[in-house]
Amino acid sequence: MSLHIMYDHQCSECEAYYIPYDKDIVCPNCGKDEEKALNIVTELAKSAQYQMSTMGFYSPIAWWIGSFGDFVALLIFKVLDEFYAQKEKYFKEIAESHFNSREWGTQQYMKNHIIDLSYKVYLEIEKNKLYRQNKSI
Ligand SMILES: [Zn+2]
Repeated sequence: MSLHIMYDHQCSECEAYYIPYDKDIVCPNCGKDEEKALNIVTELAKSAQYQMSTMGFYSPIAWWIGSFGDFVALLIFKVLDEFYAQKEKYFKEIAESHFNSREWGTQQYMKNHIIDLSYKVYLEIEKNKLYRQNKSI
């Protein structure tokens, strides 16, 4: 089983899909501030870590995409695997080259949005790891 992210959000102004994962995040397409914040970073990190603890890697072999949140989750899991498979580069370098090489089509606005969100998830995972280490001392 996998922990899915059942979440869909479209901008109320331009209908672009994005995730207001923090209160200062505005629509990456039109800039509208919807004054919404969703604590999805915690959920994404939890889902990624669950995947890692049961399978040994972040990207699920089979991942049913039931929502926009699931779509975003899969993109982020893949970049996490790419990052943790090497030791020379910082997370942001990996995320940028990974998402720059992706074809975004009409969803170009999403690129930096996903890079920033993936970085937040990475920080959350590292924070959780530290917390667990400290608890076991
Ligand atoms: Zn918008």
